[in-house]
Amino acid sequence: MNYSNSLNHIWNKFKDPERVKSLVNIIKKEIEKYGKPINIMEFCGGHTHVILRNGLDELLKGYINFVHGPGCPVCVIALERIDLAIELAKIPDVTLCTYGDLMRVPGSNRMSLLKLRAEGYEIKPISSAMEALKLAIENPQKKVIFFAIGFETTSPHTAVLIKQAKKLRVKNLWVVCNHILALVVLEYLLQTEEKPLIDAFIGPGHVSTITGSKAYESIVKRYQKPIVISGFEPLDLIQAIYLITKQMIEERCEVEIQYTRSVTPEGNIKAKEFLKEVFNIRRSFPWRGLGEIPYSAYEIKSEYEIFDGEKIFKVSVNSGKENPFCLCGKVIKGLSKPTECKLFGKACTPQNPIGPCMVSSEGACLAYFKYKRM
Ligand code: SF4
Repeated sequence: MNYSNSLNHIWNKFKDPERVKSLVNIIKKEIEKYGKPINIMEFCGGHTHVILRNGLDELLKGYINFVHGPGCPVCVIALERIDLAIELAKIPDVTLCTYGDLMRVPGSNRMSLLKLRAEGYEIKPISSAMEALKLAIENPQKKVIFFAIGFETTSPHTAVLIKQAKKLRVKNLWVVCNHILALVVLEYLLQTEEKPLIDAFIGPGHVSTITGSKAYESIVKRYQKPIVISGFEPLDLIQAIYLITKQMIEERCEVEIQYTRSVTPEGNIKAKEFLKEVFNIRRSFPWRGLGEIPYSAYEIKSEYEIFDGEKIFKVSVNSGKENPFCLCGKVIKGLSKPTECKLFGKACTPQNPIGPCMVSSEGACLAYFKYKRM
């Protein structure tokens, strides 16, 4: 067996329908012993898509209630931050760059970065933070602003970008930091008055490669909810659900790692050092659907403030109101399913999205539109 065949062999194991089916049957028997369905929030939007694409929700109907969580970085960006990106992009000589999905998210009056680009403004989608550095170096006459978004998965990349820009003495690159903290919002969900029924969490796989599993221990202790950190193949998720089921039956409450091929208890120590060196925690940050959450996002430290686009470029933002019929706020909190929204699949489609959950490749509305539309 050559190298690529052996890799395929390994990956196919994680998708093997027979293994999935047999584990599903074991889970069902265990839950029958337990006596009632288990409410599991999959925090990460990537997991939501795997669950729906592979019909895991149908396979476990009546046994597991999947509650979709806020772990989609594009979906939780507040309207006023989208409006900020739009205003920044209008500054003369600015090239604004950001991750692709964000360009289609509507701000106030349904304006988006994509629509603004069609009006002739320079807005570029990028797929890695380092592309912003390349853009700045290759276009010295331009002011390049990187509108950085994402959870702990992407924030170390932005930290490295800022460090590198300092080292190379780049004078035409700024970062507007929107990096947010997954664990803070996970805990916030457990504290808010209007919260969904959650017995346990499937922990986010990619975020946890950085944070490590130990970061969740205090939350698990405080709120007595098991967390199992999962990978992104069907069998990963089914195994994670099995581990949660075992914890519930045995009345244990622990952090477990199913995704052992990527996640360790300590996480990525080097990446965490970069984060500590470049960022402080903001006192408060706005989240879509969740409002202002204290200490839930990063800001650039004063040592690196010459790269802080929010301090350098002062623009005024007058945000309008969200579409009153869009349920993104409730979808993000796990309080509503996308199909409960009156606009779903009618006025709101991936071609004509009204809220961010229909735009992002990790959005719950897009997952329902792709995999569950009747
Ligand atoms: Fe918002 Fe569209 Fe989802 Fe409704 S279907 S909640 S309008 S994104």
